[in-house]
Amino acid sequence: MKYANRMSKLGTETAFEVLAKAKKLEAQGKHIIHLEIGEPDFTTPDNIIQAAIKSLQAGDTHYSASNGTVELRTSIAKYISKTRGIDAKPDEVVVTPGGKPIMFYAIIALVEEGDEVIYPNPGFPIYESMINFMGGKAVPVQLKEEKSFAFDPNELKSLITDKTKMLIINSPQNPTGGILTKDDIMKIAEIVKDKDITILSDEIYSRLVFDGENFSITQIPGFKDRTIILDGFSKTYAMTGWRAGYGVMNEDLAQKIARLMTNSNSCNNAFVQKACIEALEGPQDGAEKMRNEFIARREIIVEGLNSIKGFSCIMPHGAFYAFPNITKTGYPSRELNDHLLYNGNVAALSGTAFGEFGEGYLRFSYANSRDNIREAIKRIKAVL
Ligand code: PLP
Repeated sequence: MKYANRMSKLGTETAFEVLAKAKKLEAQGKHIIHLEIGEPDFTTPDNIIQAAIKSLQAGDTHYSASNGTVELRTSIAKYISKTRGIDAKPDEVVVTPGGKPIMFYAIIALVEEGDEVIYPNPGFPIYESMINFMGGKAVPVQLKEEKSFAFDPNELKSLITDKTKMLIINSPQNPTGGILTKDDIMKIAEIVKDKDITILSDEIYSRLVFDGENFSITQIPGFKDRTIILDGFSKTYAMTGWRAGYGVMNEDLAQKIARLMTNSNSCNNAFVQKACIEALEGPQDGAEKMRNEFIARREIIVEGLNSIKGFSCIMPHGAFYAFPNITKTGYPSRELNDHLLYNGNVAALSGTAFGEFGEGYLRFSYANSRDNIREAIKRIKAVL
């Protein structure tokens, strides 16, 4: 087959590749500790599971509206209005199978050949992949350890040109665990406020801010209508496999993205949408418990990583990732990652899986038990 040229521009998410390698080792009888994949290790809270079962039994097994059921969009609009302190309406919400498709659709809908998109690097790899896929120019803004992996406003300013179409921000951030404080976001807003730049604000980890509070750029006057909030159920409610997420954006863009849904998925899973309403409106103690456990594990992993010779790890402020600097081990990131996997039976991710500025780092997801985290630290020490 002769593939379309654009296929050569499509990147990937290495976490899934490392997971496959680790599974292969497990099939050979090895015991691997998984700190590579970014998904909560908890089961979905039972009230959410029960809502899905009830919905299935009630016959919610048919197509539904492309942009999501009006009940779920109403629930999401209320949730976003409350948590962001803005007035979000149901027609400004598009429900998608996971939060990830919102990146895909937003970039397809807005980025033309030659348009520039500024994105965080190290950052979620799909941003760069999708910008390239659409023929845009991916312009990385380097997140630096000495700035706690926040944006450097001066650097951002220097990257903006007449061709800048979109700015992608992500807080709490994958892979660094860094956050953008209210002050950081005010500075970013000041820089872009007079420019015709759309913001894609990836807030998928918004309920996992451990120090300070989540602040969305949509809370700044004038920014709601030019911002696409990406959020979802995967991380907050341990629902990665359910595939449920959404975007909140101006109504006009929401209609365009709904049309992309019609052309691709048709609609979301009907009974999953019922379960999502329960997730947002039902008891929150399951989500709170997971959050508290992440806070406890954060201490264990950061202390453990800092006790490894050649590693140094700053305290992440959110999400469930630690991003230690490993330059003093003398290994390049990818090589160290392979060494830990094949000789130490610990699966992590090379910082370079998140872009060129990830060299010198590894990402550890602490979505694993306290005992496994401690055991992983022991194994890494032994193999180094
Ligand atoms: N955004 C970021 C920064 C992520 O890390 C992820 C998942 O790892 C997503 C979005 C997508 O989440 P999902 O599609 O599972 O809802």
